[in-house]
Parts: sequence; C-alpha cells; structure tokens
Amino acid sequence: METSPYRKKYRRNRDYECVLCRAKVPFCWTCRCGFSICQSCMLENVWGMSCNNITWDCPDCGAQNGFGNQ
Ligand SMILES: [Zn+2]
Ligand SMILES: [Zn+2]
Repeated sequence: METSPYRKKYRRNRDYECVLCRAKVPFCWTCRCGFSICQSCMLENVWGMSCNNITWDCPDCGAQNGFGNQ
C-alpha cells in the first residue's frame, strides 16, 4: 500500500498545471485568480499578454502581474 503509484497524485501541490497546455510543470507564472501558465506557453503568448516584458495581464481576470518577483 505504501508504494501505490496513486500516492503520486497527492504531490500535485508542488507542481503547477498550465491552463493552456495542461502540462504539469514545477514552475508556472500564476495570477491571484488561479490562472497559471507555463514558461513555454508564456513565451508563445507573451506578445498578447505583455506590452513591456515587465508585467503581463491575466487573460482571465485582467489583473496585472509582474515577471520579476515570483
Ligand atoms: Zn503551457
Ligand atoms: Zn487572473
């Protein structure tokens, strides 16, 4: 029982799930509303989410989030 693979499910609080590609990654850009996006999706979509590469706008709630301080 201790070695059940299902135990891995409960480690998900360490990983983020990208809302765009559904990848489980150790790091996501996140918004306070729960939106999270992985690094590669951010790079693909940064043109639509950021106009200055310093902050990005959450497409869900419109909040402004910084690139620097996570
Ligand atoms: Zn992604
Ligand atoms: Zn948001």
